[in-house]
Amino acid sequence: MLKYSSKINKIRTFALSLIFVGFIVMYFGIFFRTKPIIMTIFMLLGLLFIIASTVVYFWIGMLSTKAVQVTCPSCGKVTKILGRVDICMYCNEPLTLDPALEGKEFNEGYNNKRKSKEL
Ligand SMILES: [Zn+2]
Repeated sequence: MLKYSSKINKIRTFALSLIFVGFIVMYFGIFFRTKPIIMTIFMLLGLLFIIASTVVYFWIGMLSTKAVQVTCPSCGKVTKILGRVDICMYCNEPLTLDPALEGKEFNEGYNNKRKSKEL
């Protein structure tokens, strides 16, 4: 079953996993201590992942400033909405800013202008 999660949370998880991948790649580089060139390649690759993660984190920061803060009707906590529909960061309640979509089943396609016309 496909589980939906808040967009900001999703991107955050992605950025965190990039850091882990970066460290794992760098860790493998240690096994090639005797071959400096291979070790350097692993280290640079690991560094690239970590840089990519920093960029993603920066991007989340930019997105967060554009996100609309709302109080979730289900759990009462303040959460952020990105796009027309999103999910509460705390209780996974589907939320929408568009009154026309209220009560409809959650569909991530509503965030895509072209796709939402087909729906
Ligand atoms: Zn909630």
